[in-house]
Amino acid sequence: MKAAAFTPTGIRFANIEKRYGNLYALRRVSLEIRAGECVAFAGRNGSGKTTLLRIAARLVRASAGKVDFVASDRQETDSAAPAGFVAHATMVYDELTAEENLLLFAKLQGIAEPGSRAAALLEEVGLSERRKSLVRTFSRGMRQRVAIARALLNEPSVLLLDEPATGLDPDGITWLANTLERMRDAGRTILMSLHGESEISALASRAVRLDAGSVVADTRTGSDMHGILSFAGA
Ligand code: ADP
Repeated sequence: MKAAAFTPTGIRFANIEKRYGNLYALRRVSLEIRAGECVAFAGRNGSGKTTLLRIAARLVRASAGKVDFVASDRQETDSAAPAGFVAHATMVYDELTAEENLLLFAKLQGIAEPGSRAAALLEEVGLSERRKSLVRTFSRGMRQRVAIARALLNEPSVLLLDEPATGLDPDGITWLANTLERMRDAGRTILMSLHGESEISALASRAVRLDAGSVVADTRTGSDMHGILSFAGA
């Protein structure tokens, strides 16, 4: 892997609250994520995993509390947006080709040399041969590859993935595990929401369980990884 073009970055969630009317999607969530950690968030549907990831991605504003990105040299990089986000519903355009999608987002993000960046990422995610195909014709796994390439466009130091394994076949899961392993080993910080144990959860260095918007277990504070990940919830 080439030298990292990013500064390893941690994330500090301080007393994050998110309210939707009377509903508390998150209640005073405080977590210190170190640069380079690979954290799996578990918890039943509605426990707040997606909301927490979307707040970290700056797609949703917290009702209270603060998220700081902390570069490994300890300087706060709050104003920067170093995170790449892979949503559950992949945010790519069906009526564009894989290559056109990446070129569009590269240009929107002001990436230098968008053509060569798009080509390099299509290679990285194994889609070079299908680059001229419309995303509409892609399987869930292939769309996921485009979404991951999109999230990597600006060399983010932090990757946020919402249920990245859902809907993938076994080959797709193995591909995703290998890809995330490369990202992790390059020093990227990874936060992902997962259901159950898998090749993907095996990459995690830490697991956190949310329940009704609160952190109820964290391997950092002594909880058992298997216990957190295997808890099915409802
Ligand atoms: P998870 O990802 O763990 O399934 P979510 O973060 O999606 O949980 O949801 C947490 C809670 O917030 C749920 O009760 C959900 O219905 C609610 N919620 C999420 N987004 C919205 C929204 N845009 N408007 C109203 N309620 C929302």
